[in-house]
Amino acid sequence: MDQVKKRNPGEDEFHQAVMEVLESLEPVIERHPEYKKAGILERIVEPERQIMFRVPWLDDKGNVKINRGFRVQFNSAIGPYKGGLRFHPSVYLGIIKFLGFEQVFKNSLPGLPIGGGKGGSDFDPKGKSDNEIMKFCQSFMTELYRHIGPDLDVPAGDIGVGAREIGYLFGQYKRISNSYRAGVLTGKGLNYGGSLARKEATGFGLVYFVREMLSAHNSSLKDKTIVISGAGNVAIYACQKAQEYGAKVIAMSDSKGYIYDKNGIKLDTVKQIKEVERKRINEYINHHPEAEYHEGQKEIWELKCDIALPCATQNDINEESANILINNGVIAIGEGANMPCTNEAIKTFLNNKILLAPAKAANAGGVATSALEMSQNSLRLSWSFEEVNKKLDNIMVNIFKTASDAAAKYGKSENYVAGANIAGFLKIADTMIAQGLV
Ligand code: GLU
Repeated sequence: MDQVKKRNPGEDEFHQAVMEVLESLEPVIERHPEYKKAGILERIVEPERQIMFRVPWLDDKGNVKINRGFRVQFNSAIGPYKGGLRFHPSVYLGIIKFLGFEQVFKNSLPGLPIGGGKGGSDFDPKGKSDNEIMKFCQSFMTELYRHIGPDLDVPAGDIGVGAREIGYLFGQYKRISNSYRAGVLTGKGLNYGGSLARKEATGFGLVYFVREMLSAHNSSLKDKTIVISGAGNVAIYACQKAQEYGAKVIAMSDSKGYIYDKNGIKLDTVKQIKEVERKRINEYINHHPEAEYHEGQKEIWELKCDIALPCATQNDINEESANILINNGVIAIGEGANMPCTNEAIKTFLNNKILLAPAKAANAGGVATSALEMSQNSLRLSWSFEEVNKKLDNIMVNIFKTASDAAAKYGKSENYVAGANIAGFLKIADTMIAQGLV
């Protein structure tokens, strides 16, 4: 950990992500001296390749704008680098490295051949015209295209990158590479190689994982009160699936505040506001005056609930919010976002025997379905919604079992955070040993 901090100064989120994993791995390293001998820990925290580039573009007024682009190709032991692109003003190398590091372990869990990578830019899509988004995406891809490919590195979406952006990125890739390689990006539109159920996959997968975790403790989602932070792709489809299982979702949020609807969130309204109109969540109360809107980012965790699903962004639940949730009787947390709980919050939940579905396992349904999209692209076929959804459900059932078994095997029963980290690590570590010192 000291080495990581020294070699990567100022990258707090990356340090945090590495710390969480290294703590989980202690019993593994004790039991397996071969990992130490092969220098696996030293190698696994060092990205295989880090790319940073200038992204110049002109805004609608003709002003020159310069952003920074990133792609961190973290680990290719088990497959081509795979992971999303995040467009958000908070993006810097430390954020992309934390996300890329997490992606390595996450992508190891579904049992599909995908390595770990992540990319993005400090570009802020908020308030930009469609034309500006397109010009930015085209400029971004004009540099990125030389570093990616269906057998090399396959980006997808993350915060700020959805179907619209993937479309513009794909169009530019196709043009400048003079090739139609559908498998170079995932999360594509359905007309050009996208997979049915990819859009829903992260949120649905999260709820499938939580269902498995509750069921292992003789509980279920039925009639549970749920609070979901975020109102993006993960939050919306987590809400949909939770409602299908008979839970009541009472709140959702964006970075400015949250909506509280004691009768249960009307998801069609949220979809209209976020997916069609691209507006803020406070619009909800114009449609449903009986609901309330409250300013603030962390205040949503003061609502009493049985299950909390943080689906917004990193470090959404800190120790203080964790204690409030526990005092209000929460029984389970499902991490839909990447690293939404601080390490202190995770410890607080585990010490209080709250069930915690960790991001690397619980939100792996998105990237797993991206891998299914890659399979369909290679086959030049598309599977039905039901087929993909069934595969996703099976994958989540297996991930829960894998994480749960690994936790038990290493003396950390019921600690799915450790279980997911350990199971994800073992496959990567064994593969790295098999492939020699590279
Ligand atoms: N950004 C998503 C994640 O954090 C999806 C990545 C992908 O589909 O490649 O896993």
